[in-house]
Amino acid sequence: GNKIRNAKLVLLGDVGTGKSSLVLRFVKGQFVEFQESTIGAAFFSQTVAVNDETIKFEIWDTAGQERYHSLAPMYYRGAAAAVIVYDMTNAASFTRAKKWVQELQAQGSPNTIMALAGNKADLVEARQVSVEDAQTYAQENGLFFMETSAKTAINVNDIFYEIAKRLTRV
Ligand code: GDP
Ligand code: MG
Repeated sequence: GNKIRNAKLVLLGDVGTGKSSLVLRFVKGQFVEFQESTIGAAFFSQTVAVNDETIKFEIWDTAGQERYHSLAPMYYRGAAAAVIVYDMTNAASFTRAKKWVQELQAQGSPNTIMALAGNKADLVEARQVSVEDAQTYAQENGLFFMETSAKTAINVNDIFYEIAKRLTRV
């Protein structure tokens, strides 16, 4: 039969890392160079078919600014999945991503599937975070990791598909 599962998913990470762009790529297949900053949070939905199941993602794209930090628990509490995004050309955004992971480990639901996205993978010349560092960190903390590019679409559907696959196993 075709079972439909709703799955709340939240994107967390520094402002400018490409959270909204990843969502726009995943939901509409588009990319814009001048993506507007998110105010508070924005909601989207998209479905992914895995075998005979349909995962309906209810996506909360958060702002990332410190002044909205107190709102974040509303979005990650009870989330089936969280995508923590950093910009691989910005080491500080990787540090910030680790802080989000810590916060989720401390305050989030223990069964939230966590994915780490090293976005802007198209900007290879400007790399500041190595694949090895991110992969090691992800492994040690029970996340799965992919480098993504909202611009070229590399690994964008893949990261959501991988989450969907894991959700069908729970
Ligand atoms: P957010 O604040 O995390 O939602 O980040 P945005 O989605 O608003 O993106 C911030 C800026 O980075 C925008 O100018 C985007 O066009 C750009 N951007 C986002 N993703 C990528 C990417 O994969 N590659 C490149 N080159 N630029 C990106
Ligand atoms: Mg945004």
